[in-house]
Amino acid sequence: FPTLWCPECQTSIAQAELEDKEFPSNFLTVKFESEGKELPVATTRPELIPACVAVFVNPKDERFKHLKGERARVPLFGFEVPVFKDESADIERGTGIMMVCSYGDKFDVDAINRYKLKPNIIFNYDGTLNIGKYKGMKIKEARKKILEELKEKGLVLEQKQISHIVNVHDKCGTEIEFLPTEQWFIKILDKKKELLSQGKKVKWYPKHMYKRYENWVKGLVWDWNISRDRHFGIPIPVWSCKKCNEIILADEKELPIDPIQTEKFCKKCGQKAEPEIKVLDTWATSSLTPQIASSLIKNKIKIPYSLRPQAHDIIRTWAFYTIVKSYFHEKKLPWGDVMISGFVTLKGEKMSKSKGITIDPKKIIEEYGADALRFWAAGSKLGEDLDYSEKDLIAGKRFLTKMWNASRFVFMNLKGFSGRKPKKLEKIDELFLKELNRVIITTTHRFEVYEYSRAKFNAEGFFWRDFTDNYLEIVKKRIYNEKGDKKLSAQYTLYQSLLTILKLIAPIMPFITEELYQNYFRKTEKVKSIHVSGWPKRDIKMHEKWVETDIEFSANRWHLLINLISRIRSVKTENKKPMNAEIILTLEKKEHEKLKDVLQDLKDVTNAKEIKTGKFKVEFKK
Ligand SMILES: [Zn+2]
Ligand SMILES: [Zn+2]
Repeated sequence: FPTLWCPECQTSIAQAELEDKEFPSNFLTVKFESEGKELPVATTRPELIPACVAVFVNPKDERFKHLKGERARVPLFGFEVPVFKDESADIERGTGIMMVCSYGDKFDVDAINRYKLKPNIIFNYDGTLNIGKYKGMKIKEARKKILEELKEKGLVLEQKQISHIVNVHDKCGTEIEFLPTEQWFIKILDKKKELLSQGKKVKWYPKHMYKRYENWVKGLVWDWNISRDRHFGIPIPVWSCKKCNEIILADEKELPIDPIQTEKFCKKCGQKAEPEIKVLDTWATSSLTPQIASSLIKNKIKIPYSLRPQAHDIIRTWAFYTIVKSYFHEKKLPWGDVMISGFVTLKGEKMSKSKGITIDPKKIIEEYGADALRFWAAGSKLGEDLDYSEKDLIAGKRFLTKMWNASRFVFMNLKGFSGRKPKKLEKIDELFLKELNRVIITTTHRFEVYEYSRAKFNAEGFFWRDFTDNYLEIVKKRIYNEKGDKKLSAQYTLYQSLLTILKLIAPIMPFITEELYQNYFRKTEKVKSIHVSGWPKRDIKMHEKWVETDIEFSANRWHLLINLISRIRSVKTENKKPMNAEIILTLEKKEHEKLKDVLQDLKDVTNAKEIKTGKFKVEFKK
């Protein structure tokens, strides 16, 4: 039976290992003959003419109405082949006459099977020819040679340069052939419907990646070839009797077993059986990762697992085959969710060792740290490629430094803090904790749907803009100057918010967050690592209540406050005044009203001696 064959690697391969590649080629019309009349046949592969076993024309094609069960003479080689009227012949393509060869493509394979024609195999497994004077010639040499000979004899009616898509082996880029070999297959073509429905039950992130799975399953034309003609690989635990063709399978208890090292005898005739020397394709075993993982932990976790993270180029292999295996073994899904990521690219090109398009991650880690590298990598939108960017590593490193310094500042000011919540929180602290709760809700949601770049964006933005630029500045004076509950309220809020920020960022920057956790929070939280500590709790009720009562005109009061602070800072900068310059502030009446319970904090952070109402204005004291 013909299988997909790579003459370079000299192994059979599966449909999933095919890649499309565009090649320039000669589109020829060559002269076949039938009863003295010319039959123009189009082909791009003249070297297959000696392997021609039939000629097809469409019964609806007016041009060939006169042909009735006749035979055609093959040019150059002179033998005759039958002419069939077959619906599958494409009227639009070429001359409308197709030559059927053993084997040019899947069409030939099907046509030869359908008419039970005797194939004439002219290629060896190493991609050379095995006939007449062409013996030992490579396929491409023979193509050139036969074209020359056809031309010499005036058998080429037309020659055009075209560019067309051919199937190549994804590992070596060689054009694949179809050669009859004996292989092991898993029958999947009759299960397309079931496999489509299994794929649909999986939750795909991003959603549109299911389409790729669906297109792949719908386009399958081969069963899954799982055996390879290679020296190394996982053995196939099978023996066969050469005398009576009996297949002997290993007993389940014997597994794992190498058939080459174990003798088996035929149960029917008693003769010594031959071990299978082919090996399993990589995907045949990697498609069992959920089952293998389960067995390693003594089935403590059974399939379906919750998540498969992987890239989009192996949906048709790793994801698809894993679904196939779980369907056949357990009639279950292997996992509930699939998270599909893109590639890391360099100036838009996929990184590749063989093409020399790489960046050495070790060097990056030495220079910027592993957290900065992860910070950059977490910036990719799910399912999309991410270009390498040094700028993002620098931003990552700056973020690390800032996180370190801000945490040191907080720890210093938490001296003597018992962890106790004060009887009454200051209004500004309450407001900030509400905003923190909002960020926990949105960031957690982003993580839940695997949008880690959005999660990172939320947590990072909150750290810079809300926490360090504003909240720390707002509470500084209170922490330095106040005692009792006023100070305690600030300490409590600092403790909660910094711990939360570290936890939200821990999945993306595991090292610095753990270090800071160990330096301070370990003692009080009493959990041995931030990575096994509880995820920040989101209080959805509190948030809903806040939305109802506090937020008007789509801006919340916290945002209103920090926007004002930033406007006042800009005015100071424009007037070349230091940030601690004393001012008299005038606020719009509406804003004044909205912020009435935190005006003292606004005064503290902007060094305003007085806040009046009227048109927004910043005046400097002389
Ligand atoms: Zn190959
Ligand atoms: Zn036997």
